[in-house]
Amino acid sequence: MKIGFIGLGNMGGPMAANLVKAGHEVTGFDLSAPMPAGVAKAASAAAAAQGAEVVFTMLPNGAILRAVAVEVIPAMPKGAVLCDCSTVDVESARAVAEQAVAAGLAALDAPVSGGVGGATAGTLTFMVGGPDAAFATVQPLFDIMGQKAVHCGAAGAGQAAKICNNMILGVTMIATCEAFALADKLGLDRQKMFDVVSTSSGYSWTMNAYCPAPGVGPTSPADNDYKPGFAAELMLKDLRLSQQAAEAADADTPMGQLAAALYTTFVEAEDGRGKDFSAMLPRLAARHRG
Ligand code: NAD
Repeated sequence: MKIGFIGLGNMGGPMAANLVKAGHEVTGFDLSAPMPAGVAKAASAAAAAQGAEVVFTMLPNGAILRAVAVEVIPAMPKGAVLCDCSTVDVESARAVAEQAVAAGLAALDAPVSGGVGGATAGTLTFMVGGPDAAFATVQPLFDIMGQKAVHCGAAGAGQAAKICNNMILGVTMIATCEAFALADKLGLDRQKMFDVVSTSSGYSWTMNAYCPAPGVGPTSPADNDYKPGFAAELMLKDLRLSQQAAEAADADTPMGQLAAALYTTFVEAEDGRGKDFSAMLPRLAARHRG
């Protein structure tokens, strides 16, 4: 397939590289990131999109996505698919999809989970919103870049699934960390705490697969001085998107709201920026009841 790829940073770079390795013809554009081997460099986003059957975007946020879409949509051939893999607000995803449809294109919102490791290994999970036909067109490409693509519904459904998942993740990480901090103060050994909780009703992905306590459970960023992994500021971005969506949809999400507030303090007023989001454990363990 002839593919345009806009935004070749930490995630987009390895994703585009995997498409090239699978034999697709990829033309890329990025304001600063270098092109991976085999990706032709275009002079603009519009030039990368010209003649492409599918254009992927992998950009920092919804405002940038909207700006890039304005450039790219008129350059794409009718019937082509614009597939955004960034994590953005649901409203931006829906607005871009509407513009694409009005221009005779199809659009998908297809945010991912799996991080840079998953992008490099081609094991991402895609959560996809948009029409069946466009999903069918892009599915073989999802299969190259990922291990699973779930068609979640109409435009915006992919972003909705992503932020709901990550709201659970943020809340659960804090719950796991504060339980370890309490266990410490009760004199309970962290390994014993893991042995019990990981096989009891308090288990979760954050405890069992990504344990925030160093030296406990499978290897995780906690074992590497909390080097990300999934950085606290990216967790904060997703929690804020969940709260923006909750406000727009009039949904009561008190735990998500509190998680967003705690990660805001950690990233903006303390030393959380640049650390893995599981570094909430040393933060909480060092604190006293307020
Ligand atoms: P990144 O900052 O490494 O990459 C974004 C790229 O977009 C950069 O190279 C930047 O130069 C480029 N860019 C910005 N504006 C542009 C424009 N107008 N035209 C062309 N290129 C432009 O970020 P990333 O880590 O690759 O993340 C990309 C998206 O994926 C984000 O929405 C993020 O939330 C999401 N995401 C990231 C991870 C992760 O672990 N890094 C995991 C899941 C989802």
